[in-house]
Amino acid sequence: MQAAVDVVNTSLHATNKVAATLFTKDYTISKTNFWPGVIEQAFGHDIDIGSSSGTVHAEVACILAASMTEGASLCVTDPFCPNCAKNIAEAGIKTIYIDHKGFDKDFAARRGDHFKNMSLQVCARAGIAIYQLNRKEKTITPIAEISDDYKPFNDAPVVVGTVASASRAYFLDVISDSRANLAGEKFATALAFDASGKVFSLCAKPHLAVGYSRCIEAPEFQDLTGKYNFILEPVNRLLMNAARLGLKIHAEYLYSSIVPTSRELVNVVGAGLNKLHLGDANSARDPEALSAITQLNNANILTIVTV
Ligand SMILES: [Zn+2]
Repeated sequence: MQAAVDVVNTSLHATNKVAATLFTKDYTISKTNFWPGVIEQAFGHDIDIGSSSGTVHAEVACILAASMTEGASLCVTDPFCPNCAKNIAEAGIKTIYIDHKGFDKDFAARRGDHFKNMSLQVCARAGIAIYQLNRKEKTITPIAEISDDYKPFNDAPVVVGTVASASRAYFLDVISDSRANLAGEKFATALAFDASGKVFSLCAKPHLAVGYSRCIEAPEFQDLTGKYNFILEPVNRLLMNAARLGLKIHAEYLYSSIVPTSRELVNVVGAGLNKLHLGDANSARDPEALSAITQLNNANILTIVTV
């Protein structure tokens, strides 16, 4: 936690300075919320990308930069938003510590309901334990604990395959197989590689956060109308699952069947990617996503290839 607190003031955000430290027994990585350099240069701090701010949240920044997140722990300076909760769950993180001072900030007061009503619920379903940490008093207080025998639902896992090499021909094969298997459903796919250079294919469709089953949840969980919802979009799922598995998405080979959401597009740029293949460049979940992709394309931040 001290590592996160040590970097939090390096965040360039004027009001919400947030930091996170992700750790496993093998490594530690700390990040603040940040504007990817290319977004900051082209749009500054005040222009949104579609319906999303141009910033990558600190929790997601850690996940995108990590070598492998399955079973990792995360320290955060502030109660986290529901989108981060979904991403943390998808990345296979199992424990979160929140700095006690984070609960006293303005940000927590404004966002507290989303944390209580949604972030905590998402973590409970995913089997993530949450603690409040007081550095001064050296105490750790449970906020939510998980029983040892709890196993979350995972009824649409990201499909992982192996591929002989990273080439356009294999990439197009993976896209066409996924199209055939998913019969008209929205999906995203990518080629990715591990530390030894071995190549994998990843394919995801949208799904409720880890631990929620499409078969049994009430219709309200499928609702997309609020500021936050329980669905995790396919490109975000690819980004988080690549981190979970210790894979890096190949810069040349990321595909989405329709235009990803504004938030997904900012995360793609935050992951250092600058090329996106699209099946249908005119369809998106919402019109703001079409604005976002136009902004990023016109600023030469994201090259779009239709396949
Ligand atoms: Zn967040």
